[in-house]
Amino acid sequence: PVADSTTSDSNMRVVVRVRPENERELMDARCKNVVKVLDEKVLVFDPDNPDCDDVFAASQMRKPTFRDMLKKQKKNAMYMFDRVYGPEADNMEVFKGTTFELIDSVMEGYNCSVFAYGATGSGKTFTMLGSENCPGIAYYTAKELFRRVEEVRDKLTCDIEVSYLEIYNENIYDLLQKKSGVLQIRDSGKDRFVISSLSCHKPSSPDELLQMLRQGNASRTQHPTDMNAESSRSHAVFLIYIKQRELTSSASSDLKVGMMALIDLAGSEKGSATGYGNARFREGSNINKSLLALGNCINALADGLSHVPYRNSKLTRILKDAIGGNCRSVMVANVSPSSAQYEDSHNTLNYAFRAKNI
Ligand code: ADP
Ligand code: MG
Repeated sequence: PVADSTTSDSNMRVVVRVRPENERELMDARCKNVVKVLDEKVLVFDPDNPDCDDVFAASQMRKPTFRDMLKKQKKNAMYMFDRVYGPEADNMEVFKGTTFELIDSVMEGYNCSVFAYGATGSGKTFTMLGSENCPGIAYYTAKELFRRVEEVRDKLTCDIEVSYLEIYNENIYDLLQKKSGVLQIRDSGKDRFVISSLSCHKPSSPDELLQMLRQGNASRTQHPTDMNAESSRSHAVFLIYIKQRELTSSASSDLKVGMMALIDLAGSEKGSATGYGNARFREGSNINKSLLALGNCINALADGLSHVPYRNSKLTRILKDAIGGNCRSVMVANVSPSSAQYEDSHNTLNYAFRAKNI
């Protein structure tokens, strides 16, 4: 039976991206590939009949695989999503299937959001920000937005403004203004939230915007843990505003504002296995709180419930205007293909799956 999470009338598209195996995973005989992409929409987790070769089978006899050690029975779980990107997909391709489809809405004055979800090391930042030579979907999005703004320039005044913030331990920090301390969320009536004194910037080109993204990303709070030195326990929220007004008008009521929120979520792995001290445990539980709250909001929205529990975390309060109502959202669930991250990948696929179905 194929688990089907595709419903075309939903406001939340859910795509899965399987990153390539890294060198360590390729070299380690105990690691095997447990995520098989069947087609553009379907993947199998822990397939019964992987295309395994004899060398591999022999190595398995000497050493147990991670899967054997965990003695799990999740074999052959088939999932269907709006789109599945295999290891060969590049950021341009992922961009075309995710944020590109939202750009019309943003230009029309709607809010949109794109979430990168997944365990640490699964490819969230690679998807959003990219690497040195290989820009992520944030850059392609910015490029397209700048192009659109250029198109309407003879009819409209149109500004692109950005903010970049981090939620760490349920505290909000400005990533583009380092020493600003903890920012507060203000309730501005009608259940809308505003972040006090969050800095706002006007990049003049996609490259300048990318520069801001990279700079902000370098300021993210990172705490090495025993498990993974690059572990990132903060949520990074990049906000791009498109503000348009008729050239002849100066009334603020004529201002049309669309927003694109690009969110690089904290690692979704469970903190309990990593064996660090009390402070770290609190971080972990707060992150789970935000991810849990996000999942609950997405589920409530998918169900058409009148009460959506936005207030349960900073993340969902901030993003209230970008995930509910007329907003269109995409979740990119990132997974490693390797059995070394068996549990994490399985959890991510289930979270992503639940994002559509309840
Ligand atoms: P996360 O942000 O989820 O912790 P990263 O984006 O930092 O994970 O990815 C971990 C490592 O894997 C990085 O070195 C990154 O460059 C690499 N990587 C992730 N996804 C891909 C991909 N699709 N293609 C090539 N390398 C990738
Ligand atoms: Mg990251």
